[in-house]
Formats: sequence, structure tokens, C-alpha cells
Amino acid sequence: MTINKQLTILMLLISLFSLIVVACAFKIADAARFHQLNSQHFNYVIELNELIARYPNAVPDTNELKDVVKKIQDQPEACVALPSRVDHLFMNMINAETIITICKKDIKIGDDLLASIRLFDQGLITSSAMKIDLDLGYQKFRSNSIEFIGPVDKLSDFIVKTSTMVTVILSVLLFLLALTITKAILKIVKRMQKTKDRLVISEAKNKQLAHQDSLTGLPNRNALDKEINTKIVMSSDDKFAVIFIDLDRFKDVNDTRGHAQGDKLLAIIGDRLAKTMRDNDSVFRFGGDEFVAIVNFSTTHNEVEKIASELISIIAEPVLLENTHVFVTASLGISMYPSNADNAECLVKFADTAMYEAKKEGKNQYLFYQDAYSKEHTRRLSYESQLRCAIDKDQLHIVYQPVVNLNNFATQGTEALLRWQLNEDTIVSPDIFIPIAEYSGQIIEIGEWVLRNACQQNKLWRESGASKLNIAVNVSPYQLFDPRFPQLVQKTLAEFDIPPHCLDLEITESMTVSDNNVFLKTLNELSEMGVRLLMDDFGTGYSCLSYLRQLPFDVLKIDKSFVSDYDTIASTIIAMGKQLDMKIIAEGIETQSSLNMLKQQQCDFAQGYFFQRPVLAEDLDIFKIYNEIKNTQ
Ligand code: C2E
Ligand code: MG
Ligand code: MG
Repeated sequence: MTINKQLTILMLLISLFSLIVVACAFKIADAARFHQLNSQHFNYVIELNELIARYPNAVPDTNELKDVVKKIQDQPEACVALPSRVDHLFMNMINAETIITICKKDIKIGDDLLASIRLFDQGLITSSAMKIDLDLGYQKFRSNSIEFIGPVDKLSDFIVKTSTMVTVILSVLLFLLALTITKAILKIVKRMQKTKDRLVISEAKNKQLAHQDSLTGLPNRNALDKEINTKIVMSSDDKFAVIFIDLDRFKDVNDTRGHAQGDKLLAIIGDRLAKTMRDNDSVFRFGGDEFVAIVNFSTTHNEVEKIASELISIIAEPVLLENTHVFVTASLGISMYPSNADNAECLVKFADTAMYEAKKEGKNQYLFYQDAYSKEHTRRLSYESQLRCAIDKDQLHIVYQPVVNLNNFATQGTEALLRWQLNEDTIVSPDIFIPIAEYSGQIIEIGEWVLRNACQQNKLWRESGASKLNIAVNVSPYQLFDPRFPQLVQKTLAEFDIPPHCLDLEITESMTVSDNNVFLKTLNELSEMGVRLLMDDFGTGYSCLSYLRQLPFDVLKIDKSFVSDYDTIASTIIAMGKQLDMKIIAEGIETQSSLNMLKQQQCDFAQGYFFQRPVLAEDLDIFKIYNEIKNTQ
């Protein structure tokens, strides 16, 4: 039975119990009243006897006699009026109905006596006849009174016993019910307490998990920020270093030995790092193969350098994985509080930057942020000066990547991508040197060189039979800020006899968000000239639809980060481009599934390693139709 039902029954029982107790109290009072009335009855009967005793000396006063008889009659009348229907039922049950019968008899006797007194007053009977009636009446009253005691006692006894019994039974019932309810409530309270305890434990666990890395058992990234901030708030003169530790080529371990072994290695390294920490130092797992240590130092960097070297050597110790020794190294970046930064975010970021530089410098070493920063600066300056003579020294060359028409899988054009061969071993990525060239202004000269060389190559291809081949050239916005740029394009097209619609100028989306007047004017002039304008890396900038409408772009090139097989952004961009009546190229296609997705979305052109990596012109087959890929569609 549910606790709610039990409680309802308890309430009903309590109400019933109260009603019965009240009723019993009334009934017991009634029974006592019977006794009271009977003893009064006795008293008046004695009074009557005393009046009768005045005979034979004198006849008692008839008024006095009538009074006493009436008083005697009052008691049985009160008795008759007293019992209710229920009482009658009880009386019947215990055979005590005689109470009423006796009372009725008493009333009748009283009436007879009053009639006899009235006859005497009227002189119809003698005083001795009246005396005989009075004597008889007295005798009857007396014996009634005595007879009355028996049934009244019986009734009182019955009422008292019944009420006691009912009260006892109800009390027992109440007790039992209260017991079960208490038990049920206790059970519920216990259950609630248990749930509460479990909640407290799981909350504590969650809290711990939120600040602890489950793989290594080390505090995690959340705990790191907290620790640095606490240190900053608490320390007055204390200095500390943040060491960002990144394992070198950890990916190789994962790839060759599987993730489970990779995890094991991380746990072992985490353990080694934790053991190397001094009392007030701490180490955290930042994520992946990255750890961060916070190391206190008092005076010089030497202390930190010593710890950094120690960390490098304990990481370099062999790790036993599946019975073979695996060797890993780490690159460390160090930022200092307060000299480098005074907040957690910057300290970690600077340490990370320094780590990145340490990797670039050859890995398995540490680098302080200060040095990394100056190294980066020096490298920038060095690139800048070397770039100046790159054209003269013939260090620049172009590689080409085909743009494939997804309707017939034929090569529709090529994109020219610049390369800088700094020396025999080093090819600097355009992502690095183009911004330097833009910053130093050399982009104008370099851009012109690319445009000329790409168009020249296109002419050669055309002459060899690919008469409709497009050439796409990446253009920096700094070239477009130059009002002479359209003339340069026109001159170059004329020089190599290329129809304007066969030249695609690719401008990175983030750079097109400009309201510079020259920029907009140049774009419009180029568009009027018939050159195709292509918005490169689309999706990475902030172009809105209305802005796109205002610019004279003909083609959208979806950035490679959106062409994975499950990305919905690509399909949105394609739908949007179609709405604006623009052609769509997707770049960075590396897998069949990406291609399938794009084909399904009716993308027009595609480009990527899946078809062809960028290669030197002589290595490119511009007549190629990708039939083997087409056949998989
Ligand atoms: P972009 O114009 O978006 O060029 C595409 C980049 O993605 C190229 O990198 C290309 O090699 C690479 N790529 C092509 N297919 C795939 C693929 O399937 N997967 C992946 N992951 N990458 C792929 P690259 O050659 O390093 O060029 C980087 C950027 O440098 C270019 O991005 C372009 O913005 C700029 N750039 C290159 N050449 C020039 C140039 O002559 N002038 C200017 N101003 N910028 C240039
Ligand atoms: Mg491009
Ligand atoms: Mg791009």
C-alpha cells in the first residue's frame, strides 16, 4: 500500500476514533444521569412516605401531596426523554429495555395517585381510601426505584465496557498503522538519504573529473588556469615559469602502435613528469600529447633551465611498449611570470608559442618565450631581406594544380601556386612568405612575376592544344589597392594572347571585406574587362549575402576546411552560390567520400590531392580526363 493511502486511512481512523470517544463520553454521562435521576426519585418517594406518615393524626395537605407526586413523576419522564434510538438498540441488545418500561409504569402510578388526590379534594373518596392509594403508590414507586437499579447498572456497564473496548481496539489499530507509516517514512527517508549521499559522491567525482585527466591522473587544463590564477593572486614576490611540453612525433606512435599503446605512453610520461616535480611545482595534462608544468623559481632563469633539461631527459628515456623500447622526445616552451605576462591566458599562450618555435628549430629542446619571440622576429627580417633577391636569384617557381570539371571529369584549368626555394633543403611555404612580402611591399613585384609566368605557361599549354584551358592566379589585396593593376592584367593578357575569360583571379575572402574605394574600383574594372573574379577560401571570412551581391565575383571557391564528407556548410555554400548565379569550385578534395558529397550537391568544379597534387608544369598532364574517378560515380 502506498504511503499516501496509508496516511489517508490513518486520518480517517483518527477522525473515527475521536467521534467514538466523544460519543462514548456522552453515553457514559447518560448512564450516570440515570443513576442520578433514580436517587432523586428515591428521595421524593421517601418524602411521599413522610407525608403519608402524618396519618392518622392529620390528613396531609393535598397540595403538598400533588407537588411531591409531580416531583416523583419528573424523574421517569426525564429518563424516558433521555435515550436516543441508538440507546434503544443497545438497551434491546442487552435486555435493558425495562428502564423505559419502569419509567412508564412510574408515570402511570403518579397519574393514578394524582387522580385519587383529585377525587379526595372533590369529596368523592374518603381520606382513608386516599391513604390506601397513597400507601400502594408509595410501595410501587419504591419497588420501581429498586427494580430500576438493575438494568441501569447493566446499561452503564455495557456502555463503559463497549467504549473501553472500542477505544482499545482503535488505539491498537492506530498504533499499528502509525508503526507501518513510520516504517514506510523511515524507509523513504533512508532512500532519500542514500540518493543524497550518492549524489554528493557523484558530484564530488564530477568535480574531480572536471579538474582531473582520467588517463594520466594529472590535473587537467581547467585546473591549470585555476592554479596559475591562484598563484598570481597569492604571490607577492614569487616568480614562476610556465613550461609547455609537447611530445615530438607522438602521432607516429599512435599510427604505428595504435591508440591504446599511445595512451599507455602518455600515462607513463605523465607519471615521470609528476615524479620530477619539486614540492611546490606542479604538472598538468593540457590535452593530447601536451603537458604544462608550473615551476617556481627565486632568482635566475638557471633554476628553470635546469628543470627544463631534466624534463627533456626523463621524457627521452625509453618507454617499454609491448616488449619493445619506444623513444620519444619533447619540445618545451617557457614563459615567465611576471616578466612575460601577468595572466594565465597569456602565460600559457606565450609558452605555447615558444614551444612551437622550439619544434621549428629542430625539436627535442626548450626555448624561452623571450628568445622565441626574438628568433621569430629575426627570421622574419631574414626572410624579408632574402626575399628581395629571390626573383633575381631564380628562387621562385610555380607549381600547378588542375581544376576538374565535375560534369565530365576533364581538366578545365589550373591554379598557379607559388613556391620559394630558399636553398637546397628549404622550400618556404607561401603561407609564410606571402604575408612577409605583403608587409614589405614586395608583393607587387612578386605578384607581377607570378601573373606573367602563369600566363606564359598557359599560352604554351594553349599552343599545345588545350585551347580552352583556364589559368587561376592568386592575387593579394595589396595588388588590388594599386590602381595600375587592371592595366597590368590587360597588358599581360594581350602579351600572351589569352582571352580575359580564361584568367581567374583568386582573392581570399577575408581580404575582400573591404570598402576601400580603389579596391572596389579595381575589382569592377577587372570584371568589366571580362576577367573572372574568384572568391578564394570562401567560408572563412565574414561575407554576408548582401555584400556578396555588391561585388562583381563570378566564382566561389569553398575553403578546404568545409569539404569533409559530413560538412553541411559546403552544401549551404553551394546552394547559396547557385542562388547568386555563381559557379562553385571546391578545393582540398582528398577523399572519394568528399567528392561524392560535392557531386551530390551539384558542385561545378573541384581541386585537390584526390585528383592531383600541385606539380611543376612539365609534370602536369593538362589533357587528363579523370575517367577512373568518373567511373566510380
Ligand atoms: P589557396 O589559394 O587557397 O591554395 C590552396 C592551397 O591548398 C595550396 O597550398 C594547395 O597546395 C593546397 N591544397 C591543394 N589541394 C589540397 C588538398 O587536397 N589538401 C590540402 N590539405 N591542401 C591542398 P599552398 O600552395 O601552400 O598555398 C597556400 C596559400 O598561399 C594559397 O591558398 C594562396 O592563398 C597563397 N598563395 C599561393 N601562391 C600565391 C601567389 O602566387 N600569390 C598570392 N598572393 N598568394 C599565393
Ligand atoms: Mg587559391
Ligand atoms: Mg583556398
